[in-house]
Amino acid sequence: MSATGTVTGQHVIVVGAGIAGLAAAHRLLQRGARVTVLEASDRLGGKLLPGEIAGVRVDFGAESMLARRPEAVTLAREVGLADRLQPPATATASIWTRGALRPMPKGHVMGVPGTAAALSGVLSDEGLARVERDADLPPTEIGDDVAVGEYVAARMGHEVVDRLVEPLLGGVYAGDAYRISMRSAVPQLFHAARTHTSLTQAVREIQSKATAARQTGPVFMGLQGGVGFLPLAVAASVEAGGGEIHTRVPVTALRRDPVRGWRVTAGERELRADAVVVAVPAPAAAALLAVASPEAAAELRTVEYASMALVTLAYRRGDTALPAGSGFLVPPVDGHTIKASTFASQKWGWIADEDPDTVVLRTSVGRQGETQILHKDDADLVAVSRHDLREATGLTASPLETRVTRWTDGLPQYPVGHHARVARIREHLAGLPGIAVCGAAYDGVGIPACIASADAAVDRLGGDLSTAARLMADPVQSLHGGAGE
Ligand SMILES: Cc1cc2nc3c(=O)[nH]c(=O)nc-3n(C[C@H](O)[C@H](O)[C@H](O)COP(=O)(O)OP(=O)(O)OC[C@H]3O[C@@H](n4cnc5c(N)ncnc54)[C@H](O)[C@@H]3O)c2cc1C
Repeated sequence: MSATGTVTGQHVIVVGAGIAGLAAAHRLLQRGARVTVLEASDRLGGKLLPGEIAGVRVDFGAESMLARRPEAVTLAREVGLADRLQPPATATASIWTRGALRPMPKGHVMGVPGTAAALSGVLSDEGLARVERDADLPPTEIGDDVAVGEYVAARMGHEVVDRLVEPLLGGVYAGDAYRISMRSAVPQLFHAARTHTSLTQAVREIQSKATAARQTGPVFMGLQGGVGFLPLAVAASVEAGGGEIHTRVPVTALRRDPVRGWRVTAGERELRADAVVVAVPAPAAAALLAVASPEAAAELRTVEYASMALVTLAYRRGDTALPAGSGFLVPPVDGHTIKASTFASQKWGWIADEDPDTVVLRTSVGRQGETQILHKDDADLVAVSRHDLREATGLTASPLETRVTRWTDGLPQYPVGHHARVARIREHLAGLPGIAVCGAAYDGVGIPACIASADAAVDRLGGDLSTAARLMADPVQSLHGGAGE
């Protein structure tokens, strides 16, 4: 085990089998722990969901992994998926703005440009002139944290926020740029902005550092068959390593054992563990921690979530002539219903290869504060998606098959002050040995960030358990033949 301590021989229960929980289980086994994963639903993977439409395999949840940080691709390799890693077939995308699909500009950090010229075509002439004024403005207060939209608008005007930053951030958080924390959501920009008066200069510094670090490989990676296979492969590896994974086992309570370790209530059973990793969304974590740490639970209850739906449509290729590129983003300011569309068959070579005669694309609808649309039934969501696709791309064909996947409370929101809230949660839990939290509610919503938070949780437990004696008595009850079957 690492310098942070050992978990060898300890029994650790992981609550939640999304990518964070499964990554934690994988890491714990590598470090010699005995692991039991308890998952409430009937399937593994949480927000990662592989499936099929018109006979073609696709993702119905998350579909790509940031490759500029190592955690997701490293985990994929560790669980035998190296051969299935695939970068997008195209790196170009569009933005549906001011009445037309326009090429997504290059040379920006989350929509914030290094030069006004980089946004030519996307912004109006007045919008571009306003971006240029950034260089001449006095410093803008950034403080301990600031909303991305507020800060960028103060430096460069609202147009760049509304037409570029908002749709790009929305693509990650389904949230509101004027509420999302710059410190948590775009930390590079936050730190660079603190040391430069001009925001364009801060962006150029980030860009030159990236060039110096030779960050030239693909920015994103997918997996042949879908990134939804990542948690399934991690789970297979966990089971092959002797870990137990049980679905349909909602954990309802966690209590500290008066002697040592934790008591975990799952249905009618009570299990004992030396340590617990809580890898569930914030509301569920709040419920589980309510007794052990009412303070942490109270903080967790304040985490807000955005809901959204994905509409996946399959077409006969002969009926479908899409613009080039991987799809397009849609600034909410233009009043369209869809927020983005991914041309899955153009973005991922493996989807095109699976069935060259079928074209799969998807749209997303709904974001924080925009839930009305999600009350519509599936047929209506398909209809509004087809309407917007027709307007944006001219696509009029009837789909072969459609599928609506609803992600209610799918994405935690990181408003201003999120980092401080997470620090408080961790401080409250620091007084409780043998418990750690991980997942999308803390250090980033993307797959690599969730995996990193799982690694950090395991490190935390290693530190706790290496100072505690093992739980020798009362061997853990097996769930075999019980609730987990
Ligand atoms: C539609 C959508 C698209 C996305 N696209 C991308 C993308 O392309 N790339 C990217 O990097 N990220 C993407 N994300 C974000 C990313 O997929 C998620 O943030 C991440 O998968 C969350 O993983 P997690 O393990 O933290 O949580 P979850 O996936 O939510 O897993 C938590 C698990 O805990 C279980 N659980 C809850 N309560 C209990 C309980 N009491 N007992 C036992 N189990 C419980 C749940 O059933 C669930 O399986 C997307 C998210 C959404 C919603």
